[in-house]
Amino acid sequence: MTDALLATLGRVSAKDDTEQTYLPPALRPRLARLGIAHLRDLLLHLPLRYEDQTQRRTIADLAAGDAVIVEGIVEHAEVVNRPRRQLVVLLREAGPETAQPWQARLTLRYFNFYPALVQRLRVGANVRVFGEVREGRFGLEMIHPVFKPQAGTEHTEAETATPELTPIYPSTAGVPQAALRTLIGKALRVESWRREYLPPSFVAALGLPSWGEVMTTLHTPSRDIPAAMLDAGTHPAWRRVKFDELLAQQLALRDTRVLLAREQAPAVSGAGDLGRRLRERLPFRLTVAQERSLAEVLADLGRTQPMTRLLQGDVGSGKTVVAALAALMAVESGWQVAFMAPTELLAEQHFNKLRHWLDALSVSLVWLSGSLAAAELKAAQKACQSGAAQIAVGTHALFQKKVRFARLGLVVVDEQHRFGVEQRLALRSRGQADCERVLAPHQLMMSATPIPRSLAMSYYADLDVSVIDELPGGRQPITTKLVREQRRTEVIGRIHDAVRDGAQAYWVCPLIDESEKLAAQDIELQNATALYEELTAAMPDVRVALLHGRMKTDEKAAIMADFVANRIQVLVATTVIEVGVDVPNASWMVIEHAERFGLAQLHQLRGRVGRGSVASTCILLFGDRLSDTARQRLKVIYETTDGFTIAREDLRIRGPGELLGPRQSGLPSLRYANIENDLDLLEAARDACAQLERDSTFDKAAFLGRWLQHRAEYARA
Ligand code: ADP
Ligand code: MG
Repeated sequence: MTDALLATLGRVSAKDDTEQTYLPPALRPRLARLGIAHLRDLLLHLPLRYEDQTQRRTIADLAAGDAVIVEGIVEHAEVVNRPRRQLVVLLREAGPETAQPWQARLTLRYFNFYPALVQRLRVGANVRVFGEVREGRFGLEMIHPVFKPQAGTEHTEAETATPELTPIYPSTAGVPQAALRTLIGKALRVESWRREYLPPSFVAALGLPSWGEVMTTLHTPSRDIPAAMLDAGTHPAWRRVKFDELLAQQLALRDTRVLLAREQAPAVSGAGDLGRRLRERLPFRLTVAQERSLAEVLADLGRTQPMTRLLQGDVGSGKTVVAALAALMAVESGWQVAFMAPTELLAEQHFNKLRHWLDALSVSLVWLSGSLAAAELKAAQKACQSGAAQIAVGTHALFQKKVRFARLGLVVVDEQHRFGVEQRLALRSRGQADCERVLAPHQLMMSATPIPRSLAMSYYADLDVSVIDELPGGRQPITTKLVREQRRTEVIGRIHDAVRDGAQAYWVCPLIDESEKLAAQDIELQNATALYEELTAAMPDVRVALLHGRMKTDEKAAIMADFVANRIQVLVATTVIEVGVDVPNASWMVIEHAERFGLAQLHQLRGRVGRGSVASTCILLFGDRLSDTARQRLKVIYETTDGFTIAREDLRIRGPGELLGPRQSGLPSLRYANIENDLDLLEAARDACAQLERDSTFDKAAFLGRWLQHRAEYARA
């Protein structure tokens, strides 16, 4: 995207370079902090709120910082030349003829003044002015206040057409509101900067005001617009701003997409014999949603454009088998497949599962992870490079520079949300950089953290999405219980009973051996080892084991193997089991200090149970100190097991920025639109792209320039 964006920006910026001269040099560094590099940028520096300045204040009540109307009588007026030529006027409260010397006065200063102004501000005149009060050397003063009509008179003169609502802009130290207003006023006078870039008929059809109107309304709202509407952002002018911002984002994403689509990928197709043979070996039939997703993936594989598809399905929906069938299609047509998972534990599970499934099909599988001994690693790399390995399974180690593939046709990335955008894009170029082939591999990403539609449409617009929206039949629902920490003895008893009846359980503790850090935070967390010892003592007749991230890979693997084979009944584990772990007989889960976990994490953890044919229970133990958001999270996880609802709530509680982070999203964050609240506008913007791009009256480059100009550095970062 970046390149396309910069190309567009390059075209726009050249002709407008002189704009910079309009910004007062003294203010430039400070304005830069607000993201403003050109006077023109100020037009999109929109007010935070509006103040109703119809309120009059008596001079005696004024305080520095007030932006108010003052009515008074000119007591003294004089043109002075020091420090600079200016008209200085002393104003006293209108009212009793005999003003007392101790009464408050307000100084007005004008640096630009005409004879008419001097005449108007002659001694004895009654004036009504509006401005920002500041602390001057001789008391309170106003610089260049504007005239307001006297109460009860119509405003006819140009100078009285000041808005009744005063915009308050986001600002920073050393940039007074008045300076922003003055500069924005200046920018508003440049006709070409307020130009309507969208076809007027198009804007009208959407029921939105023209861009020129938007600028006037938001920067200088007229007296008859309800302030509440402007403040709430519901005014059509605000909607137009949000629409345009979303439209710019969608157009930029389309450009990215076009660039990516120029890459060539191998067309992967075949009769599907290997897939058929795997299906025969499976103890289940694919669900309708799995079949549909697989068909979508296979259709993509058959094209010469690289697939970038996200296979999205709730935990337990059966994504792995879909990926395996896609992989077999690639193998069948002579291409290699790289199957990558974010953790060793998960990668190993995939490896074992695939080996089990593919054993009889004589597909050659290779395991590649950073923890392999040097000789084994070398052998695995060699198998990838020679093409002998048809499917390579592993962690990030799969994509180190040393690893080359002879004919890489498909990359499968599990739990893709664990990988950043950069990694995703780096994968795309693998085929070119390291495989000595011009072809880019197809990419299939899997995620159990559902991306809400709004996010998928905006930040992930370069992905196609297949959704597995049903769970395999025969699954029992998971019952979720919220239990206070104080009742854990009861919980232990309950688990003990269940295990004696043949069930298996996970017992998740948040952290291990981080007591120093936590002591500082004054948070009591269960130490994994202590928990393990406690449970071992409480259930002497049961095999309890401990699994944590600092164990060696083979230790972890041995424990997982024992748990899968039911030689271990209670697995005390840190979040290493968060993703992917699949042991159908495990039907109980206890999560210690559940309030410490994020929503997505809780959902993932809970998804480790409910995989078999018996009813499952997830017990969330929580401590005393619950923050508001922790309380909200527990409520959500208690009320629903639906991953989509949970992701949406997560987005609501945390906001998209935190859910993805700017690096994850790969795009500048939105300033005005909110993809959740403005979903209708997002949809309208997306739908409008194609129509606008066909429209010859639409100046796309100029339009994108307006929105993305000063974002260039961001995009480059
Ligand atoms: P996830 O989508 O969370 O990665 P998995 O692929 O690990 O889910 O599948 C969860 C479990 O369901 C596995 O044991 C898998 O073999 C099984 N499974 C997959 N598809 C089906 C199906 N159609 N019917 C029954 N079980 C299935
Ligand atoms: Mg999985």
